[in-house]
Amino acid sequence: MSKTFDVIVAGIGGMGSTACYQLAKRGVRVLGLEKFEIGHAMGSSHGLTRILRLAYFEGEAYVPLVQRARELWIETGKLTGEPLFFEVGALDIAHEGSGIVEKALEASQAHGLEHELLDRDAIEARYPFTLDRNHVGLYQPQSGFVASERAILAHTALALHHGAEIHGCEAMLGWEPTAGGGVRVTTDRGSYEAGRLILSPGAWIGELVPTLKPSTEVVLQTLGWFAPARPSLFDLSHFPVFTLEADEGHFYGFPLWQHPGFKLGSPHYGGEAYDPDTPSREPSPRHREQLRACLAKHIPGANGDLLGLKACMYTMTPDEHFIIDTLPGHEQVIVASPCSGHGYKFASAVGEALAELATTGSSRFDLGMFGLSRFS
Ligand SMILES: Cc1cc2nc3c(=O)[nH]c(=O)nc-3n(C[C@H](O)[C@H](O)[C@H](O)COP(=O)(O)OP(=O)(O)OC[C@H]3O[C@@H](n4cnc5c(N)ncnc54)[C@H](O)[C@@H]3O)c2cc1C
Repeated sequence: MSKTFDVIVAGIGGMGSTACYQLAKRGVRVLGLEKFEIGHAMGSSHGLTRILRLAYFEGEAYVPLVQRARELWIETGKLTGEPLFFEVGALDIAHEGSGIVEKALEASQAHGLEHELLDRDAIEARYPFTLDRNHVGLYQPQSGFVASERAILAHTALALHHGAEIHGCEAMLGWEPTAGGGVRVTTDRGSYEAGRLILSPGAWIGELVPTLKPSTEVVLQTLGWFAPARPSLFDLSHFPVFTLEADEGHFYGFPLWQHPGFKLGSPHYGGEAYDPDTPSREPSPRHREQLRACLAKHIPGANGDLLGLKACMYTMTPDEHFIIDTLPGHEQVIVASPCSGHGYKFASAVGEALAELATTGSSRFDLGMFGLSRFS
């Protein structure tokens, strides 16, 4: 006989770990399944940190969700005794008129977020950037970064504390509906039954839900860590997270934290098509050159020796919005994946929304823009 749960969560990365915690906290009998070890570096959430920006230039409709996520990161960090959110401020730098700073300003104004518009001279006077003549910036003091690897472990620990069962190194192979309206899930170790199934497999969504393969594209991205000439310039106490629209691409970076190197991400739109089942994650040589070019031109104080490179995957949808919805024809199955390279900051709130969906059938958040019907 299969062991039975209220909810099974497949994929314990950014989204799945928070869903397990939120479900277990509500007294739900939850099983979490993860094909690698918990906290691995093969998915989309590793590399220590992820930016959390409140003034969302991707669409001001995201602001309430990211505000709730920020609250939850702070709350959960307090519960575990190790902060998960670091309020270092965020600076979006872009060419005037490109829409990025303008949309971030719109989001700030629409939601009453603290912000400061800076011209090129003001940015260069404050931070070690060398910018183009028409660069402008929007600074948001309440933004910062989330400790993503730490957060997955912390949420898993909290889920266990509340009675969840979590199985690392156990891959879900498939699922089928049961006569009672639930699901039977098969793994490489056994089978389980539950009333509901949450699929949060990140880049593997196309394997578990083949109908979503045509609407999702997995791309490889690269993170680099470089020795700064004067580490104090990039210290957590006064250097913010940033996004930088440059002629060479749209880069992003972080203050020094838990690593001696300055962390810079390869261009947001410069990913290379990738198969998530590739056995190891080799960083892209092209990305390495792009990172170097950005440092040389715009952040020369961090253009020192290479200390590390890591490859990571984005799972893109055509409109770059997320997928959070029940599967058509199978209300007992919820999909929470493809976060198009900007999803981590929301994970704490997505976990809460998933727990609400699985237990009550609806969420306090308007998840309409993440619905599957937009692909039909
Ligand atoms: C380089 C890089 C930089 C980024 N920067 C930012 C940023 O600054 N800010 C931001 O908000 N977002 C950022 N993102 C995006 C963000 O990290 C992702 O949207 C987020 O991590 C996705 O979380 P996830 O839970 O969907 O995927 P994952 O964390 O990868 O979790 C999916 C999990 O499912 C498991 N799994 C898959 N298939 C199965 C199966 N069959 N059975 C069991 N388990 C399975 C996987 O092993 C994995 O652990 C970045 C992404 C990358 C790659």
